[in-house]
Amino acid sequence: MTRAAPTICTTCPYCGVGCGVLASPDGAGGMEIRGDKAHPANAGKLCSKGSALGETVDLEGRLLAPVVKGQETEWDAALDLVAEKFRTSIAEHGPDSVAFYVSGQLLTEDYYVANKLMKGFIGSGNIDTNSRLCMASSVAGHKRAFGTDTVPGQYEDFDEADVIVLVGSNLAWCHPVLYQRIAAAKKARPEMRVVVVDPRRTATCDIADLHLAVAPGADAALFNALLAEIAARGAVDRAYVAAHVSGFEDALVAAQASDPSATGLSAADLAEFTRLWIGSERVVTIYSQGVNQSSSGTDKVNAIINCHLAMGRIGKPGAGPFSVTGQPNAMGGREVGGLANMLACHLDIENADHRDAVQGFWVSPAMAPGPGLKAVDMFRAVEEGRIKALWIICTNPAVSMPEADRVRDAIAGCDFVVVSDITADTDTAKLADVILPATGWGEKDGTVTNSERCISRQRPVLPAPGQARHDWKIICDIAAKMGWAEEFAYDGPAAIFREYAALSEVAGRLGRDFDISDYKTISDAEYEALAPFRWPQGPMKKGGRFFADGGFFTPDRKGRMLPITPRAPKTALSPQTPFRFNTGRVRDHWHTMTRTAKSPRLSLHMAEPYLEIHPADALRLGLRAAGLAEVSNANGRAVLRVLESSRMQPGSVFAPMHWTGQAASDGRIDALVAAHVDPVSGQPESKGCAVQIAPY
Ligand code: SF4
Repeated sequence: MTRAAPTICTTCPYCGVGCGVLASPDGAGGMEIRGDKAHPANAGKLCSKGSALGETVDLEGRLLAPVVKGQETEWDAALDLVAEKFRTSIAEHGPDSVAFYVSGQLLTEDYYVANKLMKGFIGSGNIDTNSRLCMASSVAGHKRAFGTDTVPGQYEDFDEADVIVLVGSNLAWCHPVLYQRIAAAKKARPEMRVVVVDPRRTATCDIADLHLAVAPGADAALFNALLAEIAARGAVDRAYVAAHVSGFEDALVAAQASDPSATGLSAADLAEFTRLWIGSERVVTIYSQGVNQSSSGTDKVNAIINCHLAMGRIGKPGAGPFSVTGQPNAMGGREVGGLANMLACHLDIENADHRDAVQGFWVSPAMAPGPGLKAVDMFRAVEEGRIKALWIICTNPAVSMPEADRVRDAIAGCDFVVVSDITADTDTAKLADVILPATGWGEKDGTVTNSERCISRQRPVLPAPGQARHDWKIICDIAAKMGWAEEFAYDGPAAIFREYAALSEVAGRLGRDFDISDYKTISDAEYEALAPFRWPQGPMKKGGRFFADGGFFTPDRKGRMLPITPRAPKTALSPQTPFRFNTGRVRDHWHTMTRTAKSPRLSLHMAEPYLEIHPADALRLGLRAAGLAEVSNANGRAVLRVLESSRMQPGSVFAPMHWTGQAASDGRIDALVAAHVDPVSGQPESKGCAVQIAPY
């Protein structure tokens, strides 16, 4: 007689909402999925992607053994080769000749040991992550305004707000459970107002009282116009600004010099937006990739935060700026220093005291002297031969990086490339010298942090298949082979969690926001049973919300307003490339579809890559509805199915980011995206390149 397997509480591996999932193995390699009613992020709800998780865990296409130069091999031989290549490169060319490119899909424990190995033992800052493409501008904006990368709000604020402004966020498709939460709050309190700021009329506009079809890239001009109006109407909270804010006057002068007509909005729409914003105490501004993925993304973030600081609408229930993250663990990666320009626990890599503190804690031999290469620069260094050994962990940059053809060629030309992944034949894995089999969702064991700083466990539901190993274990195995066995001798993820919780105590003493040191002595059993908790208010740390007392993490404890001068997208339109090309997600697929494509019902929503274009533009170009269009520029080309839609503005087109080469169409659209980056955050402008379009 077989006994029913227990139900496991775990966390969805897709978007940054971080929904709790109950997974019941069916005994045949699959599982039943339900939402976890006890999880604070979703209270039992799941979107289409989360509820289809059970359909994505089969082993078809899985990488089940290490592969060296196309041949399956033993772990020991593969690890020896990787360690030797990295050691040799470091010895001959220095620590900056190697790099890790990692992922917001990694668990925090994986991220922590990768960061420790590169920054503390190899002695280079060259570890960056695909989260650079997702929310690096929010990180930079937070640090400029608050002194630390602190997300001030929490999801309850969405229930309590009187006005919710969604900027550059198709929440209905990209964070569906949060969208449903706002829709439910609006239904319960019909007086709540929702404003959507987006060049496209997306599905999120279905709950909007006001849709501002802002000109592409003009978000900073919009929030500058708002700040100028806040001042003109005498709505500045003068007492709050005097006590808690620096930089007000300079920010206001820049806002007043900014041209509101750059928004492309009517005076009536601008006036209604201003009326709603100023007239409501409780305003939450939720923003996402439409703000971040820009060559002026950090300025856009600060233009938003400026308005909240000017009216003291931060650190209070139902009020504040709120960055929603795209990936399941973008936040956890930030907490343990997964970006090239950060140290673990929100410490600053540019700060010698912080570097010394971390090195002292790790007792490490070779601390990175400063920031490493951010994603776009990292692949340029690969192209130029400056990076001799590259390890790509849990991501597919040959498809997802801007100028993807160039990145693919750079990886192909690199002296030595390691890929660890769950899938055997991604576009990137095909280019690797060594491919290492990793565990995937449903097998992995560790923690993730969602957009509201809630740390949740991802627990194994199924055994690791074949010879797959956890990412943290692979990284520690390599570290051991490179001579640091003792420093990376963890017996499980709980030991890693304890270590970075202890490091966060050091960070707390240095005035950083990320402090989970109450967990530094957590036992293995307590870690196994760990309930979701939001830092810093976990079960052991009952506190208020960030910035409730007006105290920020800057040296003078004041929130900084910055003077913002709006900038247009870096790529100008031209007669040859007259269309603004916007990219993003669809509702039912995730990243490069290595998992979601396994579910037939997820593929029903959008079966193939498409080009969303205004009917007038389609007519003028001679495109047929449901025909094919070739989209191109100097960087590359894609062939996409034509989807006519009056939700688009004339002159702007949209294509989803998920697809790679297909039979009839070729949806590898990041080949077209220019690698222009924000000068502060290094985040690429994934929504602002220029293309030409022709019938195919
Ligand atoms: Fe998963 Fe995001 Fe959907 Fe929640 S909203 S089930 S985290 S994809």
